[in-house]
Amino acid sequence: MQYETVIGLEVHVQLDTRSKMFCGCPADYQTAAPNTRACPVCLGLPGALPVINRRAVEYTVLTGLALHCRIPDFTKFDRKNYPYPDLMKGYQISQYDLPLAQDGYLDIDGDSDTGHRRRRIGVERVHLEEDVAKMQHFPDDGAGYSLVDVNRSGVPLMEIVSKPDLRSPAEARQYLAALHSMVQYLGVSTGNMQDGNFRCDANVSIRPRGSDTFGTRTEVKNMNSFRSVYQALEFEVERQRRVIEDGGAVAQETRGWVEEREVTVSQRSKEYAHDYRYFPEPDLPPLHIGRQWVSELQAALPELAPRRKARFQADYGLSEYDADLLTGARRMADYFEAVVSLRNVPADAQPAVAKEVANWMLGDLSRLLNQSHCDIADSPVTPDGLSDLLGLIADGTLSTSLAKTVLEEMYAAGGDANAAAIVRARGLAQISDAGAIESAVAAAIAANPKAVADYRSGKETAARFLMGQVMRLTKGQAQPELALRLVQEGLAAEKSQPAG
Ligand code: ADP
Ligand code: MG
Ligand code: ZN
Repeated sequence: MQYETVIGLEVHVQLDTRSKMFCGCPADYQTAAPNTRACPVCLGLPGALPVINRRAVEYTVLTGLALHCRIPDFTKFDRKNYPYPDLMKGYQISQYDLPLAQDGYLDIDGDSDTGHRRRRIGVERVHLEEDVAKMQHFPDDGAGYSLVDVNRSGVPLMEIVSKPDLRSPAEARQYLAALHSMVQYLGVSTGNMQDGNFRCDANVSIRPRGSDTFGTRTEVKNMNSFRSVYQALEFEVERQRRVIEDGGAVAQETRGWVEEREVTVSQRSKEYAHDYRYFPEPDLPPLHIGRQWVSELQAALPELAPRRKARFQADYGLSEYDADLLTGARRMADYFEAVVSLRNVPADAQPAVAKEVANWMLGDLSRLLNQSHCDIADSPVTPDGLSDLLGLIADGTLSTSLAKTVLEEMYAAGGDANAAAIVRARGLAQISDAGAIESAVAAAIAANPKAVADYRSGKETAARFLMGQVMRLTKGQAQPELALRLVQEGLAAEKSQPAG
């Protein structure tokens, strides 16, 4: 039997606001010492009253608009009740039936393995809620215990729920990556998955191909990277297929991904499903969302990755591959455009310069950034620095290989490292004066009689070998074409002399 996979994702995104969702506590819970970001509101003390964070609402509406959602005039917050130690109040303020954004979509490329191209994935809703306290469990060695850090309680959390439109783990990963890029481009979240700023639960079921009813789904949790979402879904699809082919039925349950063992395990079955007893939050007024404000936010939407990628291909003549890598993160794309515009070349020279900038960014600069675990936004070599360096290549001061050395020095020096100053201080400029290379050419020819003989017997490549020797003798500073020409002239002169 052929099966079709059905996946829907619930993505939780922590919003990058200064203060928490309903109180004035700073939201910097990740760097603050445990339990130092707490007040009567986020501790849920009796009588404390919440106040809505306007910026969090703005970020959620912005995301809803970017996802082509409808933003209703009227929304409200609701209490979701459940008892658990990570929940200070015994309920979480969330949104139940009137979310801030509804019925949108996100386009993805589609999974060529399943024959799809360009797929539109429905977004059911985007709503706003508050995060819960962070628990740390210590092993049960007879005295097992858990610690609670309330710093995270009340940090604004946006939930984006997809329709069950994804048809493979690869599509789920594409959707997740597109969403991740989007929240970063919008500037609403840092989107750091390892730190839990961007989390995903995956609902998955399978059904006989061609069927139009859904199979029973499981909900998979505990994945903290794109890779683990993909692996967990692959595992779960295969597990469900085996259950069904063995004559069993998939149980509706919550399962946890166990990273070390690469399996999902049952955590909670449907009989224990929560009844959250939602009801409208009595301490908060409903929200009326002004149309004028929504239009202003719509107009303020930045250019997002897919459009920027298309523009990079069209305007700069970049390959799809380069454009994709350069626009994956907004900081990367901004850096690229800053360097290209600093180079300030005429329009017809722009594609060549763009390609050169792309090569340096995706090659040597990325390597240095990776080695020092540095984000491009904090790169010690700024767009100004890279632009100056490329200027020194363009005017013949530096060969490409010398420029690589200079880039490394600039990177190590950081901050105010100036390409021209490093070239001067280290005497790294390229030698394009024939007189200064001639002695190296003569030395190379004298030291390599075999290469000279090879050349004479018709092996043209021997000249390239001798040029390499000249480059070595000049510590890479000879201008390569000039070195080759002088070697060829030197060999011709040798040739015209009688042998012996
Ligand atoms: P819950 O509140 O129990 O999490 P929802 O109706 O909000 O349930 O659905 C949660 C997610 O599950 C959504 O992303 C939705 O697309 C997805 N989903 C619903 N039914 C299925 C199914 N049969 N297979 C896979 N995903 C599903
Ligand atoms: Mg759910
Ligand atoms: Zn507080």
